[in-house]
Amino acid sequence: MKIAIIGTGYVGLPTGVGLAELGNDVVCIDREPSKIERLNHGQLTIFEDGLEELFKKNAQAKRIRFTTSMKEGVSSADVVLIAVGTPPHPVTKEADMKYIHAAATELAEYLTGYTVVATKSTVPVGTGDDVETLIRKKNPTADFDVVSLPEFLREGYAIHDFFNPDRIIIGANSERACALLKQLYQPFAHKTTILCVKRRSSETIKYASNAFLAMKIHYINEMANFCEKTGADIFEVAKGMGLDSRIGNRFLNPGPGYGGSCFPKDTNAMAYMARQNGVDLTLIETTIKGNELRFAQMAEKVIQATKSDTPKIAVLGLAFKNGTDDCRMSPALSIVQELIRRNAQITAFDPKAMENAKLILGDKITYADDIYSCLKDADVLAVLTEWEDFKALDFEKAAHLMAQKVIVDCRNMLDMNKALEYGFSYQGVGR
Ligand code: NAD
Repeated sequence: MKIAIIGTGYVGLPTGVGLAELGNDVVCIDREPSKIERLNHGQLTIFEDGLEELFKKNAQAKRIRFTTSMKEGVSSADVVLIAVGTPPHPVTKEADMKYIHAAATELAEYLTGYTVVATKSTVPVGTGDDVETLIRKKNPTADFDVVSLPEFLREGYAIHDFFNPDRIIIGANSERACALLKQLYQPFAHKTTILCVKRRSSETIKYASNAFLAMKIHYINEMANFCEKTGADIFEVAKGMGLDSRIGNRFLNPGPGYGGSCFPKDTNAMAYMARQNGVDLTLIETTIKGNELRFAQMAEKVIQATKSDTPKIAVLGLAFKNGTDDCRMSPALSIVQELIRRNAQITAFDPKAMENAKLILGDKITYADDIYSCLKDADVLAVLTEWEDFKALDFEKAAHLMAQKVIVDCRNMLDMNKALEYGFSYQGVGR
């Protein structure tokens, strides 16, 4: 099938590479010429586990191409996927639709033959109707259907998730569009559910799912606070809870709060939509507020662990999670910013996200080249992102390098017993 993808970011690029690997002819379009130039020179613009190999393989086989030209991508496509950003509005926090509307308007004139225009971006309920209207206005005779095709990939596991989807949701008001997309995803039909629903239901499924996951994270974080006061151990509590199949054992890891480019923005957008529709979504409103407070609570925990008014803090991890270089709405960065406000001197290291973090933090902190140069002379080590590399921390070496042997492990990922064995004071979350 011929596929055009508009927006070549954290969703568009892995999706394009995955669809090419399935044998489709893919054209990825982006309005940023520098991105397209790098991709055309064989350089990836994001870090994702397993992406590079598939990207190179499919680019060499000419199954995937990159362009800034809407015409080049859209005019021969059977399916056009819109994967542009839907960032939060700075004041209302509703999803900002300007990129979606621009993409719909720009693509319209190049549609030829029957085409499915599918929105992969996370968009408010009713966006499908708007996209349809915009295209129809620009190109009244076009033969097309607009479909909601929400994306559920997790950054850091984008390639894995593309090839092993939990479900594929197709929100289509037309049988013909649904049938074409079912054909596109046929390679996964033997191992996953492909669910065709109304377009507005599909748009809602995406927000309802992300808001639910955000609530689950916030719930276990509150339970961790409870455990800290009562002497229970959140590991044991989460394990015991997770054995109940109605609850499930995933997303029960307490930490520094949820972040990234999706959960904060999508919970806010969902709450905004509910308010606009006169519906109370109190659980989501509470989750948003609680999660925002969590970053300051984590910073306080780190500050309390030191004896100094101007502590030197070694921060391991800046990305919003492991496996990605993405720092958008990273809890680690929010905590670092709070620590700076509290007069801390920060030296930080992240295996993949240093460049993106520098764009946000600039010269407010010192950037280390590796874990151990980060630890040198630190009063406290704060682990903020759960990179596998950090698990293998050499406690003996760390004990020699640090000024004080203090660890605050906001990801509960270090070996607590080993830390205690080497004389560290160790604080996790909820233990
Ligand atoms: P991104 O910012 O990484 O990528 C968006 C890309 O679209 C950018 O490269 C931008 O230059 C390009 N773009 C914007 N307008 C354009 C236009 N008119 N023509 C061509 N290119 C254009 O964003 P992302 O993280 O890939 O997210 C995209 C959408 O997918 C969002 O709605 C997001 O909520 C949703 N989503 C993201 C994830 C995730 O893990 N990142 C997961 C599921 C869903």
